[in-house]
Amino acid sequence: MVFAGAPLDRGDALRRDEARVQDLMQGDEGWWMILSGGDALLQPDGNLFWFHPSEARTLALKPTRIFLGHYKGSACFAAEMEDDTALPAGVEPVDPRRAAMGMSQDEAALYGYARSILLWHQTHGFCAACGTETVVKGGGTRRQCPGCEKEHFPRVDPVVIMLATHGDECLLGRQTAWPEGMWSALAGFTEPGETLEEACARELKEEAGVTADIPSIRYVMGQPWPFPSSLMMGLIAPVSDASITVDTHELEAARWFHRDEVAAMLAGTHPEAAMPPSIAIARRLAELWVAGRI
Ligand SMILES: [Zn+2]
Repeated sequence: MVFAGAPLDRGDALRRDEARVQDLMQGDEGWWMILSGGDALLQPDGNLFWFHPSEARTLALKPTRIFLGHYKGSACFAAEMEDDTALPAGVEPVDPRRAAMGMSQDEAALYGYARSILLWHQTHGFCAACGTETVVKGGGTRRQCPGCEKEHFPRVDPVVIMLATHGDECLLGRQTAWPEGMWSALAGFTEPGETLEEACARELKEEAGVTADIPSIRYVMGQPWPFPSSLMMGLIAPVSDASITVDTHELEAARWFHRDEVAAMLAGTHPEAAMPPSIAIARRLAELWVAGRI
């Protein structure tokens, strides 16, 4: 899955030594990933542009600096640049979805991690308990409030995304804003007080009026989704009754697609319907279901 599988040593033990982390960040070893408003800075070949510490120091960067961990033996850091920073020739900011699809698996995962954590720091500068400005700790893995000592940790928002199935058909929906003809798996945020399976059943009921039997729902696979901090939890949910009642506040339409139709959508040969691109876990779920693997 795109954004998953970063071969990164996050250096948990090292992070406990704040002075050592600061030394690393101010040193001349390792590489810096610089983001621009959450966008990736890419080389002309589509790979990330990694800045040597001496190059990174010449850029106007926002104050929050992150130690990502060690990748291929080198320390990796991340920061956001200020809007008016001049970039090296050939380096340009690229929209995250387009950028991730052109990168290697490793780099997409590292970039997704950096994007999520930098965006979290940007919106969590003050203590939610007492309002004091918080400070970065642990190389960016948390913030601490000097006023009340409360620690604040980066958020991860679990989202259930599910393929409801009924025999040889699966349920797909579409939203008005999507490109014409695109259909995808239903999805929604998990709410406090519910399991993934319960969230899955609730979302199917709310959006499509479909009743799933909670014990029959199975987790398939996950995907970090750095927009800004979701964790997509892919599920499959067999249902016994195929009747649908669409909630038009959530969806423009929902309907059952036969396995052969979904295969054609994945192959790009369906006359009017298509699945999302390969970056999306919905597509991966559909591929596994069409292949009879889930
Ligand atoms: Zn506080």
